[in-house]
Amino acid sequence: MISIVYSDDYKNHSTGNHPENNTRITSIMDAFYEQIKTRTTPEIPVLKPEPASKKDLFRVHPEEHVEIIRSFCREGGGYLDFDTFASPETYRTAKLAAGGAITASKLVLDGHDCSYSIARPPGHHATKDSAMGFCFFNNMAVAIEHLREVYGVEKFFIFDFDVHYGNGTAEIFYNDPDVLYISIHQDPRTIFPGRGFVEEIGAGEGEGCNLNIPMPPRSGTCDYIYILDRILEPAAAEFGADLHFLDVGFDCHLEDPLSNMGIDDAFFPWIGVKMRDIADSMVLVLEGGYNLEVLRRCNVKLINVLNTEVSTEELSDMKDMKSYLYKEREDVDPKTKTLFKDIQDTFSPFFEF
Ligand SMILES: [Zn+2]
Repeated sequence: MISIVYSDDYKNHSTGNHPENNTRITSIMDAFYEQIKTRTTPEIPVLKPEPASKKDLFRVHPEEHVEIIRSFCREGGGYLDFDTFASPETYRTAKLAAGGAITASKLVLDGHDCSYSIARPPGHHATKDSAMGFCFFNNMAVAIEHLREVYGVEKFFIFDFDVHYGNGTAEIFYNDPDVLYISIHQDPRTIFPGRGFVEEIGAGEGEGCNLNIPMPPRSGTCDYIYILDRILEPAAAEFGADLHFLDVGFDCHLEDPLSNMGIDDAFFPWIGVKMRDIADSMVLVLEGGYNLEVLRRCNVKLINVLNTEVSTEELSDMKDMKSYLYKEREDVDPKTKTLFKDIQDTFSPFFEF
């Protein structure tokens, strides 16, 4: 079974004309409900999130950080930095978004094949002690620490395909040998947050557990598939996580206004199938994506391939089709092959790619 975790209360983080605004999630949910009407498939339940408690937040963020966000919002909000805007209800909404990741994780522990937290504000740029890049609390990290402490889950695999490096998630787990964070993103020399290079591999006991795939601008779906096909499965098999997370960002799409990548719609069902090959179950957490049409179309495509009850045959058809489409084509950029080689060499002490 696949489930969605969503609340209309996410609209209370009111950001006006900011690119990260309410229309993102309403577009996703409208398209989702629209396509349900046209399909004869089993219903995908949409469940409400429980807000994260202060205790949940404090496992990741110092009390001072939580208090700064709370009091800033209580005083009316505004810009916390040059691009991160808070409204009076942002504190409460950010707690709900972190709780959404916890709720989705619990559903997977309860036996759902996939559960997808469609929430805002996003989380992957939020470090332990700073809000940045439209993020206030690190939703996924809050969920992971909750699972660790309350449920005793030990090892976590995260794959983040948002076009921006999830610097917050990476930093929070940088020394942690039990969280493998893999991120594919636009070359940080050309985009926020300016970090996420191959040589940032984790530190101390966490060395080898932070794997960055910084793609040159305008890389296409075939470049993504070339490199992910060679990395994700071996890394996941070697690492052996108890729970798998997919950090979902639609801003790698060629039509996104905030980035310069060349990914088309085909990537999103492909990655859904690939992750299902890797993991029996997974938690999905929404991050970025700022073209509403792309959000509408590509979310539906991703959700459809995750819907196991209906799509086993569709999945294998799609898998054959995609592997044919991309393995036969000779248009993988030489820079992608060089990058893969670099990652292969850098990670040779940890993984065999
Ligand atoms: Zn992003």
